[in-house]
Amino acid sequence: MKLEILGCSGGIGHGLKTTTFLVDDSLLVDAGTGVELLKMDQMLAIKDVVITHAHLDHIIGLPLMLATIYDQHKTPINIYALPDVVEALKTHIFNWTIWPDYTCLPENKPIINLHSVNVGDQLSLQGKTIEVMPAEHPSPTVGYLVSDGAASFAFSGDTGINDALWPILNTRKPDLLIIDVSFTDEVDELARLSGHLTPSHLASQLELLSHPARVMITHLKPGFEDTIMQQCRQILPSWQIDRLHHGDIINL
Ligand SMILES: [Zn+2]
Ligand SMILES: [Zn+2]
Repeated sequence: MKLEILGCSGGIGHGLKTTTFLVDDSLLVDAGTGVELLKMDQMLAIKDVVITHAHLDHIIGLPLMLATIYDQHKTPINIYALPDVVEALKTHIFNWTIWPDYTCLPENKPIINLHSVNVGDQLSLQGKTIEVMPAEHPSPTVGYLVSDGAASFAFSGDTGINDALWPILNTRKPDLLIIDVSFTDEVDELARLSGHLTPSHLASQLELLSHPARVMITHLKPGFEDTIMQQCRQILPSWQIDRLHHGDIINL
């Protein structure tokens, strides 16, 4: 399985894009500003998009991509998200004010099909199993565990402390865990309020993980990447912890 990191930042700026992961060229996990790195033929190759939540940094690439490929796409793209997120996309994005309603365009064969999913669901897409996992965030959010039978990775979604996640990971034993550590330990209160982890939170959460997965950090706040990683390594010396970088291609 090929996992391409198009966006993994908690913000934007030169060389920074927000959450967008491309799996085996045709499955998109979140559609942040990283979508803009795709060429036309790459956008046309996307069959399915799984969305963790409706926050703008995870969806903004989707309406823009649909407008870009509208004339050339052949097969509708399937979008999967929580019912609240599907509703938010319909109400706040595809509402003719912010953007055209692509759920009914073109008239006879809309460019997207929106599908509601719930925590615990297991989707079968493109020969992969995609399990919907719980997350803790102020807006309804999930994570996803993607497996092709030979290898697997789990993505926490945007999340704060989330004790429900770890029993699932202990059972499924993903090879790689991508997890949100947005903030440094100095802003513990801000992290808790906004539903993100700090290095100390991550350390307490990893005590619940019995399976020695490779851990990669995502959603780091611009300007604090090095401090976040220093704090993670200091507090978790026995774990193999790295951060995602833009342009990473991870072969699992
Ligand atoms: Zn969020
Ligand atoms: Zn986010």
